[in-house]
Amino acid sequence: MTGSLGSGPEARALLRDRLVAAGHQIDSGLPGIYGRSAAYEAVAMGIIEAARARVEPGADPVRWYFPPLMSRETFERTDYLESFPNLTGVVDVFDGGDAEHAELLATRESGADWAGRLTPSQATLVPATCHNVYRHFTGVLPAPVRLDALGTCFRHEPSADPMRMVTFRIHEEIYLGTEDGALDHRDRWLAITRELMTDLGLVVEVDVANDPFFGRAGRILARGQREDALKFEVLTHVYDDAPTAIASGNAHRTHFGVNFGITLPDGEPAHSSCSGIGVERTANALFARHGMDLGSWPAQVRTLLGV
Ligand code: ZN
Repeated sequence: MTGSLGSGPEARALLRDRLVAAGHQIDSGLPGIYGRSAAYEAVAMGIIEAARARVEPGADPVRWYFPPLMSRETFERTDYLESFPNLTGVVDVFDGGDAEHAELLATRESGADWAGRLTPSQATLVPATCHNVYRHFTGVLPAPVRLDALGTCFRHEPSADPMRMVTFRIHEEIYLGTEDGALDHRDRWLAITRELMTDLGLVVEVDVANDPFFGRAGRILARGQREDALKFEVLTHVYDDAPTAIASGNAHRTHFGVNFGITLPDGEPAHSSCSGIGVERTANALFARHGMDLGSWPAQVRTLLGV
């Protein structure tokens, strides 16, 4: 275990500097975008496998892996643009000919913003792993579905805090089915995640939370989400001041069931829930807690992670 990082912006800078100096995070030149060392990646994969190992014996959920991009049409159906326009990212591409290419290069040459000459493609960046999943279940669900999914996500919130990344992975256990089943799935995985994080040597607490919905309408949504206790976060104190969420459990009610036309055999829209682990956030919390040298981590933690 290493000493406290302290609090405030200095603490964030200190953790970032330590991770970069140790080679675990590779600086991209932009805040919140990092490459990773082999040791870091082993920890990241170890976190995911340790979570998967806690699925009930006999259960064999399907595992899906997703890229950082999704179709704009799917993105629109999640209502992400309504709730989080500030976190959204669309991929722009060049689709001109020789004349437009010449204009593009002239724009760059002039020092103006050449990216403005690109055209939005049909691809957006993926904000949450489970958003990839729902479109595959449009129609009648004969029985509840459980899925294990890993995907690369994007949220446009560049920050000097290495715990707040722009691109990162979320490992999720996703459920589609009945209302009781969705709440049970979320609560069970929250308990599993809390126990896993504790076994990994992190001091955690679980608290009711809300998503950072945008704008005035968003404040009402956030209050409703809290009042109805739909979202819980697993928090840990990486820094001495505000705790950081490293995992969350979310009940979506019928939001995705309605938007993606997923129904139960009785014709009612399906409920869904997910429990997600921020892979890089958890890895960073472990490096902050146990130090930059994997060799000096507690044996129990190394065994659990397989590193
Ligand atoms: Zn999710």
